[in-house]
Amino acid sequence: MPKFVYDFTEGNKDLKDLLGGKGANLAEMTNLGLPVPPGFTITTESCRHYLEHGTLPEGLETEIDEHLAALEGAMGRKLGQPDDPLLVSVRSGAKFSMPGMMETVLNIGLNDESVAGLAAQAGDERFAWDSYRRLIQMFGKTVLDIDGDRFEDALEEAKRAKGVREDVELEAADFRALVGTFKNIVKHETGDDFPTDPREQMRMAMLAVFQSWNAPRAILYRRQERIPVDLGTAVNVCAMVFGNLGMDSGTGVAFTRDPASGHQGVYGDYLQNAQGEDVVAGIRNTVPLTELERIDKRSYDQLLDIMETLENHYRDMCDIEFTIERGKLWMLQTRVGKRTAAAAFRIACQLLDQGLIDADEAASRVTGDQLAQLMFPRFDTSAAEGARKLTKGMNASPGAAVGRAVFSSEAAVAAAERGEDVILVRRETNPDDLAGMVAARGVLTSRGGKTSHAAVVARGMGKTCVCGAEELEVDVKAGRFTAPGDVVVSEGDVISIDGTSGLVYLGEVPVQDSPVVQYFEGRLAASDGDELVTAVDRVMAHADARARMLVRANADTPEDAARARRFGAQGIGLCRTEHMFLGDRRQLVEKLILAETDEERFAALDALEPLQRADFEGIFEAMDGLPVTIRLIDPPLHEFLPDLTELSVKVALAGADADPQDRRLLEAVTRLHEQNPMLGLRGVRLGLAIPGLFMMQVKAIAEAAVARKEAGGDPRPEIMIPLVGAVQELEAVREEAEGVLRHVAESTGVAVHTLVGTMIEVPRAALTAGQIAESAEFFSFGTNDLTQMTWGFSRDDVEAAFFSRYLELGIFGVSPFETLDRDGVGRLVRIAVEEGRATRPDLKLGICGEHGGDPDSVHFCHEAGLDYVSCSPFRVPVARLEAGRAAI
Ligand code: ADP
Ligand code: MG
Ligand code: MG
Repeated sequence: MPKFVYDFTEGNKDLKDLLGGKGANLAEMTNLGLPVPPGFTITTESCRHYLEHGTLPEGLETEIDEHLAALEGAMGRKLGQPDDPLLVSVRSGAKFSMPGMMETVLNIGLNDESVAGLAAQAGDERFAWDSYRRLIQMFGKTVLDIDGDRFEDALEEAKRAKGVREDVELEAADFRALVGTFKNIVKHETGDDFPTDPREQMRMAMLAVFQSWNAPRAILYRRQERIPVDLGTAVNVCAMVFGNLGMDSGTGVAFTRDPASGHQGVYGDYLQNAQGEDVVAGIRNTVPLTELERIDKRSYDQLLDIMETLENHYRDMCDIEFTIERGKLWMLQTRVGKRTAAAAFRIACQLLDQGLIDADEAASRVTGDQLAQLMFPRFDTSAAEGARKLTKGMNASPGAAVGRAVFSSEAAVAAAERGEDVILVRRETNPDDLAGMVAARGVLTSRGGKTSHAAVVARGMGKTCVCGAEELEVDVKAGRFTAPGDVVVSEGDVISIDGTSGLVYLGEVPVQDSPVVQYFEGRLAASDGDELVTAVDRVMAHADARARMLVRANADTPEDAARARRFGAQGIGLCRTEHMFLGDRRQLVEKLILAETDEERFAALDALEPLQRADFEGIFEAMDGLPVTIRLIDPPLHEFLPDLTELSVKVALAGADADPQDRRLLEAVTRLHEQNPMLGLRGVRLGLAIPGLFMMQVKAIAEAAVARKEAGGDPRPEIMIPLVGAVQELEAVREEAEGVLRHVAESTGVAVHTLVGTMIEVPRAALTAGQIAESAEFFSFGTNDLTQMTWGFSRDDVEAAFFSRYLELGIFGVSPFETLDRDGVGRLVRIAVEEGRATRPDLKLGICGEHGGDPDSVHFCHEAGLDYVSCSPFRVPVARLEAGRAAI
């Protein structure tokens, strides 16, 4: 039979799955010999059983009785014993700390009889009645589900009646009266009397903890944090110690170092004559932990000793909860503490220097997401401090944005066209706001949480967003919003929003690059004395040394290529060529499409070729010595032509006088118009349908490479064919391309080694990768298209249309365009890797979708055996770090 209950002496910190984080760490501290009040933990398995069957597992009650008896034996008194009661706390504690679950109930075991025993033993009537009213209050609120305000109001009323302001000014008789009032509230609200049997109190509290696993707030939190739904929570039963026994008692929280900066020191808060929940509730002002040295030096010294023990033992920053009962220190909780991104890097390096962890572990203690946070532009701190704060909302999508407030998508688009920076302000956004969101520098909403439409779409676009700023009254019709203090912000007024903190400011707050970006840009050196930059530099060096995969960048211009290189890119994984057909060159594209004879067509192509050659030369130069994967033109041609509707109107209005050129163009645009452009004439299909188009590009690439070589450079071109679904498509292009490459080599007398490969972005390509590899020297997974085509939905449409709903429903934990869908799309990638390499063992494999910069997806690529990931220049450091971490 499984064991359902573990004494604190029986568990340890590695049993978090079974005992929850709190229980496992209480056991660990107990075994370290630290002063933890005795107790036991009821396993998560018991909770899972209860939630599944609605009954407690067989034998659980007996086991609890046995452990309770042992606890009573150790303490020398029984739970609720009338003349000297043992009291316990019943505490929830899942594997991951989870707001929204049931809170702890303290002082279980008190009733009308034992309250007298407690008073006599402590020699303190007031303390006993205060503890009793706390029990009814907490039990009523969390176990019996009574609105907590009912109790709070009664407490306030008692203070008002007595003419005092603080709880501490109430006396024994006042608390005794409050107990009566509270009991009446329970009776009134539930129809039952407050349960006086201590064992029944304990049982009810335990069941309430179990049930709270499925409280709506807990469910929502798990969904957002991607915590599995079926873990369940443990329940900890712990002998009470009392911080409310007078001024030589108290309770506090502490960190073993500063969770914001990582600096060592004494960080925490302390509250005299109080029980634990008072600190969190903020009922009275706490004092800084350093004050404890003056209040109770012995406990303070002991606490510092314990903090050092814990840090050395956990080899990490810990946070702790403690209580002092009449000069005796008790430890009530510890765990590895949450920290800011900057502190994570600093602490990792400090622990490394202290010899507590090695370099591998230091790198595993930080994440790419944390690094990304450190790279977002931010508001100038001193300026932000001086700026007028309007409110604080939720930090939905990080960054700093400044612009004039606009209240509609149309206004945002119009302003952006005039070249103005705007912030789109809405109560909440919906799919109609998409164009406005694209046009705006940032998005501010007064409703909705982190999975609201605004938040999801903004994150997907990498756009700064503050959502759910509930203090704002947004009046879209009137074109203004009101902030606390009756500040009115009208359309056109400048505001600044901080997507990292959620703060909203009136007026313009200057934006600056983060020091970490300055470092990656080479403007700030690791030796310049910025502690954070030095830490980032050290971690990155180790990650680079460990990484098996290389990191390349998606870059289309020499400027982007150069920036990517400064950020550590080891090549270009995706150079798109679309922009090489835009601007003045549009006319040439029109000529190409309108060509009626081969001569006309080739004349247009010949005019385009030298222009593109110059583009490629610049990129090869910026990436000299490193591979550059160039994707031949991919999007449907009509994207380079005038808009169908506009042109139709123009021709229709002109009637008989219409320009014949326009008429022909309209014909062509109509002919090329597609219902589903994403699935239409694009990629390799275009290359095969329009003779000469791809080969013009191949020639431009080859000649650019020759020119670079003649100039003493080291160009490394890789030609990539998009949207291939069948090896025959690739073969046709490849044969022609090889002809062009040979011709250029012969005519110039300069040979440049050039690879020809393909994107794998159509499911069929992945499924026939073994055949395709016969004709491809490399594969690059285009996971944006592969995701669209595998799921059968268009990224451009669905994110705005229904993704937030899907996230709410838990259909995805995260958008498959953000993090690679391992089960579906990932499966196709694995098949293609395996079958491609079976055909061609030295096949080069990479990924060039947006996923190349996403931490989880980078780990997937490492596991799948890819040679490199490619991502936007700005994400290169993140991918480098994660490539290193994946290899550890
Ligand atoms: P949370 O997970 O919300 O921190 P806890 O179970 O840690 O909940 O308990 C809430 C508060 O009650 C904490 O301040 C904790 O230190 C205090 N507490 C819990 N158990 C005891 C106990 N046995 N004696 C005294 N205080 C306790
Ligand atoms: Mg706690
Ligand atoms: Mg594609």
